Amino acid sequence: MQTKSDILAAIGDTPLIRLARASDETGCTILGKAEFLNPGLSVKDRAALSIVRDAEAKGLIRPGGTIVEGTAGNTGIGLALVAAVRGYRTVIVIPETQSAEKKATLRLAGARLVEVPAVPFANPNNYVHAARRLAEKLAASEPAGAFFADQFDNVANRQAHVDTTGPEIFDQTGGAVDGFVCAAGTGGTLAGVAEALRARKPGVTIALSDPDGSALHAHYTIGTLKAEGSSITEGIGQGRITRNLEGFTPDVSFRIPDTEAVAIVFQLMREEGLSLGGSSGINVAGAIRLARHLGPGHTIVTILCDGAARYASKLFNAAFLRERGLPIPEWLGAETGELP
Ligand code: PMP
Repeated sequence: MQTKSDILAAIGDTPLIRLARASDETGCTILGKAEFLNPGLSVKDRAALSIVRDAEAKGLIRPGGTIVEGTAGNTGIGLALVAAVRGYRTVIVIPETQSAEKKATLRLAGARLVEVPAVPFANPNNYVHAARRLAEKLAASEPAGAFFADQFDNVANRQAHVDTTGPEIFDQTGGAVDGFVCAAGTGGTLAGVAEALRARKPGVTIALSDPDGSALHAHYTIGTLKAEGSSITEGIGQGRITRNLEGFTPDVSFRIPDTEAVAIVFQLMREEGLSLGGSSGINVAGAIRLARHLGPGHTIVTILCDGAARYASKLFNAAFLRERGLPIPEWLGAETGELP
């Protein structure tokens, strides 16, 4: 018998896929960790499971209790599926600007949604602060209490990647990994994988690939948290040093414009059958930059965070791309419906 005890046992152990064009053009082996194959279809299933297990171990959550989180979507989807299996309810506070697909998926996963205006972290109405306040209110009013998952500052998030993603990458490459690069939202993936790889392979190069509009690249290169521009990517970019990023420093940092990331997303879809979201484009662009930085012959790993289906109305919508001056692939540009 080769069965899983439940769907949560299917989280992790994702394949590492060779990215042909990126590898061929750089002379490196560039590998993408296929996190879009997790049950909730993103890398955030790992953090969700780790956060709930940690809360259970610490007695912070009771059977039938409510898990509250502020999330751009993927963490909420992960939490909703973990909560369903473990017998909790989920309430998700989400900025209203997030994609309709992610909101619909959250509802399909059984989460209750509270939409709030998208305002910066410094504003008390920011979705993270709103979620914390809602958790405090529900903790008092709900019979089984409530728990604030707090993905940005709860280091059980980073620990998921110290315990699983990082060791998987080391083992799957037979220890040959020379470089790892990804973007940071909470920073859990980047700092966690870095910790696991640095412990197993001193000398491994860890890089940040930061989208426009994020303050991290400036922080790690010139020492000030300064953000410039904006990005259509979701779930990545950060304006502060979260607790998951505390104590972490990348060896190298790249700032990636959307034009570069979006072109890579379309190339991977058209030529390599990989249907990915925007943050994966930022990550693969970062892997190509890291390959050029290290030179030919190196093995570089990055994260394929989630799939294209979550962004159909944005990243895969010709009108949306045209408005923002982004490249439109020919198969999205055909609007007349006429056959050639
Ligand atoms: N890509 C996507 C699509 C995400 O939702 C997230 C999570 N916010 C990330 C990347 C970044 O992961 P992390 O929070 O571990 O930095």
